[in-house]
Amino acid sequence: MPGLMNEEHTFLYDYGGVIPQTVTISSYTTAHEQLRLSSDNLTKVMIESILPECIDPKINIKELYEPDYWLLLRHLRMVTWGPFHTPGHYICLECAKENSDNGIVTKWDGMINLADMAIVRPDDAKELVLTHTINRDKFIFLDADVTVHLNKCKDLLLIERTRVSEEQKKLLPLAASISSVEGVDFVAVEEVVDWLSSLMPADFDVITEEYTQAFKFGLTNRCNVKCPKCGGAAFCYVQVNDNYFRPTRENLTEWKKLLGNSKGKVRSGKQ
Ligand SMILES: [Zn+2]
Repeated sequence: MPGLMNEEHTFLYDYGGVIPQTVTISSYTTAHEQLRLSSDNLTKVMIESILPECIDPKINIKELYEPDYWLLLRHLRMVTWGPFHTPGHYICLECAKENSDNGIVTKWDGMINLADMAIVRPDDAKELVLTHTINRDKFIFLDADVTVHLNKCKDLLLIERTRVSEEQKKLLPLAASISSVEGVDFVAVEEVVDWLSSLMPADFDVITEEYTQAFKFGLTNRCNVKCPKCGGAAFCYVQVNDNYFRPTRENLTEWKKLLGNSKGKVRSGKQ
């Protein structure tokens, strides 16, 4: 049997022993890749089909918190396709200042190492809160306390299967995270979307900011790069989409160089 890459993966959040803190992640196979390509929903195929088969021991992926999901997905990409990625653009604020007509996003065919993506870690593990109550005093108009929770993978699946209008789609992740609003009984997430839609924008902004602040930890979608033009500090955004799992030939060649002689160390089969 051809070799699969295996690496240890440590979760950011503590699952109180229900899920071990450290697991082994192995690369996904060509069979998994075919499954991914035939699916029109990356989140669903990863959470329900691919990730459960790449983690040892078996864990309930649906119970992972969202930040751990993104970290795990990056690791899966790195053990399966290597760490190199071509984001297609970079942003240099220094260069943008000089050529204000050209916008700030510049096309770029350079590659990044996904291991360089920034991760926001707490100074103290106590900061990794799972729920957060926004006191009514924070709102401009709303007169109720609102409690939000950190979404789990099962919430991501709920978001994927909920059908709402195009303009309400962006509200779904936040809607899924709302545990309670004082004085309102929600039965379905669609009702929370309607409730969010009906808020004054000033109050909606308060909820968004409070959520972002309370649950800011984990992988960011940014990677720092050296500006190809001025050599200064630039960055790019890394989007997790189909392209993320489709490295270029150059990305793979670079990985091969990195592996070098260690290729023989790839362990055979799943651990
Ligand atoms: Zn620059």
